[in-house]
Amino acid sequence: MMDYVIAPPAQPAVPVHGGGLFPVRRIFCVGRNYAAHAREMGHDPDREPPFFFTKPADAILTGGADMPYPTATQDLHHEVELVVAIGTGGASISASDAKSHIWGYAVGLDMTRRDLQGEAKKMGRPWDMGKGFDHAAPIGDILPVSESGILTSGAIRLIVNGRDRQTGDLADLIWTVDEVIAALSRLVRLEPGDLIFTGTPEGVAAVGPGDVLEGSVAGLPPLRTTITE
Ligand code: MN
Repeated sequence: MMDYVIAPPAQPAVPVHGGGLFPVRRIFCVGRNYAAHAREMGHDPDREPPFFFTKPADAILTGGADMPYPTATQDLHHEVELVVAIGTGGASISASDAKSHIWGYAVGLDMTRRDLQGEAKKMGRPWDMGKGFDHAAPIGDILPVSESGILTSGAIRLIVNGRDRQTGDLADLIWTVDEVIAALSRLVRLEPGDLIFTGTPEGVAAVGPGDVLEGSVAGLPPLRTTITE
């Protein structure tokens, strides 16, 4: 067997509520999946099929760790989201079979350099540097679906410095988790370890150093991170 020529990278992993680590293979994110958020971003929520972008697996930030304010932005936005952890892979999964591929759920933040994303949109360029930077995916502990049950409704919320910033309900997802899994698995074969950020409700806004972000989805372990210089 050939040796690696440099040390292989560490395996990114998310702590599981109750013990153990969930190894992260890839991070997929759904865009504009709550109608009111689509409207606040200037889009018609009724006409658009789900679309996806990605973040590097090592963009996760776990265990309540601080998030360093990223370089190259003056407009860092929060997007609180339900995250689905895939335990069983598959291609072209039907919506009716999608639930059997879910290992668990977590609360996540799709942190966004909104100024870079906006410039990319205007120029017809990729979103990667607006979405896929270091520490761009804070995530709470994963709760196994065996404990949570299948989630189709429930409050989703982000509190910044003790005040409500985003409030919504999972029942208001335009594309349900089942439909998201079906659509994404027609584009790529899903594999164990994949995470899917399912979209954010309205109320996205800027945060800066010193801000304390607390994300929650009813029934899941909460997420907390503090932005640092
Ligand atoms: Mn998002």
